[in-house]
Amino acid sequence: MQIDVLELGPMANCTYLISQGKEALLIDPAWDMNYIEHTLAQKGLVLQAVLFTHGHFDHVKDCESLLRAHQLRAYIEQNDVLLSGLPQDVLQPYSGEQDLQIGPFSLHIIPTPGHTAGGVCIQIEDALFTGDTLFPGACGRVDLPSSDPRAMRKSLLLLSKLPADTRIFAGHSYGGRCSSTIEEEKLNNPFMRSAIKDEKVIF
Ligand SMILES: [Zn+2]
Repeated sequence: MQIDVLELGPMANCTYLISQGKEALLIDPAWDMNYIEHTLAQKGLVLQAVLFTHGHFDHVKDCESLLRAHQLRAYIEQNDVLLSGLPQDVLQPYSGEQDLQIGPFSLHIIPTPGHTAGGVCIQIEDALFTGDTLFPGACGRVDLPSSDPRAMRKSLLLLSKLPADTRIFAGHSYGGRCSSTIEEEKLNNPFMRSAIKDEKVIF
C-alpha cells in the first residue's frame, strides 16, 4: 500500500491518495480537483472510493465534480451529512463503526466524535487517517457547532489504545507536519495525555 500526501488549498489540508496496484482511494479530497485528476491519470490509477473523515467544508469543498466524473458516492458518517453541504446523491452515508472492503483495501472506520458529531478515523493496515480529531501534538477544535469536548476526550482515549506503532495521518499539516505515531502522541500530545490520565485541566 502506498500513501501519497497531497497538501492542497490555503488551509494546509492534507488529502490522502492511497493506492495498491492500480486501485486507489482518496480521503478528504476538497481542493484543486484538476491537480487530483492529473495525479490519478499520471499514476494510471483507478479511483475506487472517496471517504471523508468529517463534513467540514475544507475537507469536502470541491469534490462534487470528481465524484460525478468517477460515478462514485463519498462515504460519510450520517451525523455529518448536513454539515457537508453536498447533494445527497453524491454521498454514501453510514452510521457508526464499520468494516469496509473496497477493492484490495480492508478499512476499519472508527467513530471519533468531538470535533464534529460525525467525525471518524479511517484505519487501513497500520495507517490511521485521523482528519481533525488528532494532529501531531494537538487535537481538533472543540468549540465549533456540533463539537463536544467530552466526546473528544473519549475519542482520544480510544485512539490511545490502538497499537503503539500505528502511523497517524492528520487532516492538516499544521506546523509543517501531518504524520506521527500513536506511541509518539501518547508521549508528547498534551490532549491525548490528558485524556489518558482523565485530567480535566486542559479541555
Ligand atoms: Zn474540521
